Amino acid sequence: MSNKPVRAQAKGSAGVTAAPDSAVGEHAPVEASAKAPPAPEGKNSVKKPKPARGESHLAMVRRARRINRELAEIYPYAHPELDFRNPFELLVATVLSAQTTDLRVNQTTPALFAAYPTPEDMAAAAPEDLEELIRPTGFFRAKSRSLLGLSQALRDDFGGEVPGRIEDLVKLPGVGRKTANVVLGNAFGVPGITVDTHFGRLVRRWKWTGQEDPEKVEAEICAIFPKSEWTMLSHRVVFHGRRICHSRKPACGACPIAPLCPAYGEGETDPEKAKKLLKYEKGGQPGQRLTPPPDYPGLPAPPAAARAARP
Ligand code: SF4
Repeated sequence: MSNKPVRAQAKGSAGVTAAPDSAVGEHAPVEASAKAPPAPEGKNSVKKPKPARGESHLAMVRRARRINRELAEIYPYAHPELDFRNPFELLVATVLSAQTTDLRVNQTTPALFAAYPTPEDMAAAAPEDLEELIRPTGFFRAKSRSLLGLSQALRDDFGGEVPGRIEDLVKLPGVGRKTANVVLGNAFGVPGITVDTHFGRLVRRWKWTGQEDPEKVEAEICAIFPKSEWTMLSHRVVFHGRRICHSRKPACGACPIAPLCPAYGEGETDPEKAKKLLKYEKGGQPGQRLTPPPDYPGLPAPPAAARAARP
């Protein structure tokens, strides 16, 4: 689609043609996802999303689903950017990813999983050895305590297996709803919306929600999309946030969904300057995974050793 922004389209449904798309359920009633997690209780728990000026809720839902379809075309290869081979590795990598990049985690976990391939192995680790291995990811003492605690819980309470239910996962040390949804969605095939910093920023820019609290964001976005879309929607939005719609300098002038975005103009609108802001495969740079999926069009990330050897 053209990069030329048509801001009026974002203000109402008139300019947004709803192409049939059974996967996304464009024509399904808004209640299609009524099984979304309930919004957490609290004074502001039912705050309605603030629509783009003059846009009805229904028009916003149609625009949101259109954006999802566009993102599916832009990032057909969207995937988790943490390297993992089984649910345990994904759980550990996700805990380590707090306050650091997926790249840093991916450069750290090969040695970690070589030393402690199972929950039983990690549960028996000496804390100082574990800390040393995960030190590059930051907050290594707290993360080490979480990994020891969750490994021991997996060993003692779940027969050495990662449980596939959110209510069990969130009871593990260091595991919140975000981590649980990542594990469920990508290791167990259970649909879930993962609200990280990128996801929250973008859905607020797009006026899909006005909420700041991640659990309220999750509940409101779940209500917009069919359950079957939740996991891939999360990947697509995070991919877009990492590559184009950055926190400080969104590359609006190089953004394929600019015509659908009420926040167009928050970032660089000059196409040539915006192009220089693109990251990872969109900017011709390596990705974050050392072992990206076969359909990933960019380069794999360099392992830790190669990175250290660079001048
Ligand atoms: S880069 Fe700009 S136009 Fe694109 S989604 Fe972000 S704010 Fe909107």
